[in-house]
Amino acid sequence: MFWNEKIECMSRADLEELQLKKLQNTVQRAYDKIPYYHDKFEEMQVFPEDIQTLSDITKLPYTTKDDLRSVYPFGLLAVNQKDVVEIHTSSGTTGKPVVSCYTPKDLDVWSEVMARGLTMMGIDENDMIQNTHGYGLFTGGFGLHYGAQKIGATVIPISTGQTRRQIEIMNDFETSVMIFTPSYGLYLSEVAEEEGFNPDNSSLKAIGFGAEMWTEEMRQEIQKRFGVPAYNIYGLTEITGPGIGIECTEQNGLHIAEDYFYPEIVDPVSLEQKKSGEKGVLVLTNLEREAMPVIRFITKDITSLNHEKCSCGRSLVRMSRVTGRSDDMLKVKGVAVFPSQIEKALLKIDDIEPHYQIIVTRPHRLDQMEVRVEASKNLFFDEVKKLVATKEKIASYIENEIGIRVNVTLVEPKTIPRSEGKAVRVIDKRKFN
Ligand code: ZN
Repeated sequence: MFWNEKIECMSRADLEELQLKKLQNTVQRAYDKIPYYHDKFEEMQVFPEDIQTLSDITKLPYTTKDDLRSVYPFGLLAVNQKDVVEIHTSSGTTGKPVVSCYTPKDLDVWSEVMARGLTMMGIDENDMIQNTHGYGLFTGGFGLHYGAQKIGATVIPISTGQTRRQIEIMNDFETSVMIFTPSYGLYLSEVAEEEGFNPDNSSLKAIGFGAEMWTEEMRQEIQKRFGVPAYNIYGLTEITGPGIGIECTEQNGLHIAEDYFYPEIVDPVSLEQKKSGEKGVLVLTNLEREAMPVIRFITKDITSLNHEKCSCGRSLVRMSRVTGRSDDMLKVKGVAVFPSQIEKALLKIDDIEPHYQIIVTRPHRLDQMEVRVEASKNLFFDEVKKLVATKEKIASYIENEIGIRVNVTLVEPKTIPRSEGKAVRVIDKRKFN
């Protein structure tokens, strides 16, 4: 039931003692081995010996994505390059990618946290795991792969794409666990349905998904379509990859591997510390990373921490599902809007598909938001009156969620581009005006 009971069920006092020791070690190594951190600590006049308690972490500087880019590619290495055995990078869609380097020990840690997570989801050596995450520079593919092999499960490294083949393999190999991003999962479910997939008569027992933001409503939808529970996997390349936090079968928050990653929640603007249970931006520190220890990385992911003991028996803190990214937040007519709010509203309505795009424009210097949603096949061939009523319903559900009125466009089924990785939900044309 547990992969590493000693750590996963450790008392808070013992865990904090362990974390402090590891933090002191990390800070010392960063100061000694990484010129970037050495200079930053000197500049702030903070030194390794200043870390006497865990809360002393607040004396240390934050690290942002731009900081990591400023030392591109290998400026944060704390070891010789010859000791690095693997490299991954972030997608780099908005600039230079962030590079993540691993020593053999770092890969062990990554495998360990993923092995714990898969075990948490009820997966073991009897399972056949179909990993649709891309293998390559993206951390999703390999992270899952290492963890699956560590627990002795069988991995199908099918990677992303070839959607019909995915379904064929799923049926022929009797896959028991599917790993995908929520948006790709939706697409897969459509193709599966066309191929005659029946959730009551399948070999599946669980789904693991992550790599993009999703709502509880989206989980329900995916669970309904595949007929099995879906668990959330959280991670980011800058800090190691997937496995930082994973949901147990209680489906009530993701247990963070706190012996390797130290979490803090801060205010997105003032960066002041938040209390346990309060929402804010997640900040993570690597506690035991050889190649590239990152200190106080601002993830921009919005979540909260729950320190209560989980009914699964684990004492590791739980982070709530990420409800948005501080930089995904759209300001429309001065109101803060997250794509997750739109998704939440849409999933409450029948007759539409949960495929959507948000388009923001600024004609005549006034923000306008359009939400494009796919009508279901039935609705689309229905009478105009019903279409109009559904549009009105969508607009009012969204207004209820975000407080402003948007234009709703119903489009033909299957016309919004499907994604095999992370979906493009927002098209903000205001930047280009
Ligand atoms: Zn739990």
